[in-house]
Amino acid sequence: MSIPTEPVGSVPRSPELQAAMAAHAAGELSSDALDELFDAAVADTLARFEATRSPVVSDGEQTKSSFATYPLEGMTSLSPDGVVIPFADGHERQLPVLTAGPFVYQNQAGPYVERAKRFTTLPVKQAVISASAMGLLYPQEGIAGYDQEQFIDDLVAQSAADIRSCFDAGADSVQVDFTEARLALKLDPSGAVLQQFIQLNNAVFSRFSTDERQRIGVHTCPGGDHDSTHSADVPYTDLIPAFMTLDCGRFFMQMASEADPSPALALVAEHLKPNQRVYVGVIDVCDEEIESAETVCDRVKAAAEHIPVAQLGTTDDCGFSPFSDDVVTSRDTAFAKIAARVEGTELAAEQLG
Ligand SMILES: [Zn+2]
Repeated sequence: MSIPTEPVGSVPRSPELQAAMAAHAAGELSSDALDELFDAAVADTLARFEATRSPVVSDGEQTKSSFATYPLEGMTSLSPDGVVIPFADGHERQLPVLTAGPFVYQNQAGPYVERAKRFTTLPVKQAVISASAMGLLYPQEGIAGYDQEQFIDDLVAQSAADIRSCFDAGADSVQVDFTEARLALKLDPSGAVLQQFIQLNNAVFSRFSTDERQRIGVHTCPGGDHDSTHSADVPYTDLIPAFMTLDCGRFFMQMASEADPSPALALVAEHLKPNQRVYVGVIDVCDEEIESAETVCDRVKAAAEHIPVAQLGTTDDCGFSPFSDDVVTSRDTAFAKIAARVEGTELAAEQLG
């Protein structure tokens, strides 16, 4: 039995592309010139994906500002001083805050799929940001003339339209990046915030048919940026029972970087429904050392001790570069790790027969 394997999404941008994005932002490079460089970056990324024999590919998020901010590019009703996300190594990322309604995505992810499909015939997977992450943009003090209820209505509709745009563009599947799930338990150990996040995302999923929801996945991780994390200190087992109430077909779960994945895997197995598949992280994206195929194979077999092989897949623990300016991991390292994932997953599939 073969075991499906898929990336989470992002691949590091080349230094040249990063310089071009900065030059464009500074008004020193035209949009047309940047667009040509984007085409070249996506084409190169897909060619390198194909070279790993990856059965499913992504555009590596080469043209996104970040996994979370693409809907906000060009939005004028934002101020920069929103929620701060602290990472274990001391660095921070700060989200913007909404200053006026209505909330409308400035970019949908569908066009990323269209661009990718120009350069590959393999199935293209597309990652989108979760409604719950975008929900953090609404200020605690509220917005005059645009109450939270109106905002939530707009948010659910916009997030559903974002996913729909990917399917319309021919995406094989859509993965919702829910990296704030584990963080929610750090910010509010009672679990109430996590429940709000899950309800919001399930409200989005309810806009899709049962068949479509089989092609929708969710990704969770302790947050990866500059090889550091924001919520690895929250026990995974605290998150999993609630996380697995998300009403979709696929779960892309960081696991390789867990000190002991066994309790988490056992709990996933307990909560996995018959029509669902869990893609277990077998590549530690915060570790610069490239895994051997044997290491990957061992991780798959450890997962298979808990999860039926028919419901098992593999993935990377996270994107390799969720923010476009993250240069810690090189493209060569990322693709070597992806190749190890593909080879090690095949090896495990053979051995698990
Ligand atoms: Zn992640």
